[in-house]
Amino acid sequence: MKRKRLVCAVYPGSFDPITNGHVYIAERAAAIFDEVRVSILLNLQKQYTFDVEERRAIASEALSHLPNVTVDSFTGLLVDYVRQQDAQVIVRGLRAMSDFEYEFQMALMNRQLAPEIETFFIVTDAQYSYLSSSVVRDIFRLGGSMDNMLPQGALRRLRERFQAHSHKTE
Ligand code: ADP
Repeated sequence: MKRKRLVCAVYPGSFDPITNGHVYIAERAAAIFDEVRVSILLNLQKQYTFDVEERRAIASEALSHLPNVTVDSFTGLLVDYVRQQDAQVIVRGLRAMSDFEYEFQMALMNRQLAPEIETFFIVTDAQYSYLSSSVVRDIFRLGGSMDNMLPQGALRRLRERFQAHSHKTE
């Protein structure tokens, strides 16, 4: 009998930090694919609030309830990494129409580079449709909080980061 081929998906992003919107996408991907790798991008041109080790630690904690989800990090071209991982699918989350244009362009570009890899879009839950890591960071920087939108570890580290920062600049 032919053995069923395992389907492995990579869910790439900055995850700076991971939000409940990201966790929601990872949960839905985990219900479909055999293995899901949440892969944190280290783009040397970009400045992050949390370094890659911190982002990995926050994400690992937030996803620990999902046995077929692992957290990893990568640099360089996404399709090279996906091939290296022996994965067949790239998962991306879609919020409003505003995500679509960029995501569509990336998906077509990645197909051009690696036609065997499929990009798979998962639509977010309505409650997370306006949630992004950058909005979360701005709110914390200004002294606000978004308790129900973030995993505990992300909340704790954001508070530490921005409270420590505001003491330093006082
Ligand atoms: P990137 O810098 O690659 O956009 P992000 O960490 O911002 O990295 O997002 C990674 C992926 O998760 C993207 O596909 C993005 O559209 C998706 N995403 C971000 N926030 C949400 C959310 N609130 N709900 C669903 N998907 C989301």
